Amino acid sequence: VLDITDLTHRYGDLQVLAGVTLRVQRGEFVSIVGPSGSGKSTLFHLIGGLVTAESGTIALAGEPVAGRRGLVGYMPQQPALLPWRTIEENVVLARDIAGAPRRASRELARQWLDRVGLGRFARSYPHELSGGMQQRAAFLRALICDHDLICLDEPFSALDAMLRTEMHRWLLDLWEAERRSILFVTHSIEEALLLSDTVYVLTRRPATVAERVEVPFPRPRRDEVVDDPEFVR
Ligand code: ATP
Ligand code: MG
Repeated sequence: VLDITDLTHRYGDLQVLAGVTLRVQRGEFVSIVGPSGSGKSTLFHLIGGLVTAESGTIALAGEPVAGRRGLVGYMPQQPALLPWRTIEENVVLARDIAGAPRRASRELARQWLDRVGLGRFARSYPHELSGGMQQRAAFLRALICDHDLICLDEPFSALDAMLRTEMHRWLLDLWEAERRSILFVTHSIEEALLLSDTVYVLTRRPATVAERVEVPFPRPRRDEVVDDPEFVR
């Protein structure tokens, strides 16, 4: 679904990405890890069409992105919820823009907000929530649309360990049920290995990704672990 070839980007004199090539296949869960400042979010801005690359190509389902927005489910590193919309209205934002039926969107948002422990806050405004709560709302906003590719930029960085584990499980369950492709940015190599089929490592600046690591022990699928009650993902 996503093909990135020889992507280069700079901010003024600062070369951030230098010849990044990576691909995400249909239904694949891919993580990108790399040190702070290595260009992970920049890569996402390019994929999301917020910024146009200096050179190289990004193709989604064979079509060049070239600055077009709204083609992927996208969770930016900063939750960036609209302050004048309630949490529920923020979650359904992309669906509203896409013209999905409002009532069905609201219903889905309620179910998912309940699922991540935010049911009580559906009618609250972003400033009334903690950072971790806002992060979960932004996470739902990225997932609730129907795009084939979901890009998540450090989606769980503000969550405590227990909540993060719960979100991991929920994300994997959803991913296994829907088989959409996920591109996941994290600082944590452990988190990347836990969740992904494939991990790309962004190397030191300027990043030429592409140390591609097949996860050596792919995590068991849910249906493979039913016989093992001891197994904790
Ligand atoms: P982190 O893990 O801290 O989120 P990152 O890997 O996401 O880091 P980026 O946010 O992509 O890193 O930033 C990469 C480099 O590009 C940094 O050195 C940053 O200062 C620079 N940079 C990012 N955005 C801009 C911008 N809009 N203008 C100028 N420089 C920028
Ligand atoms: Mg970043």
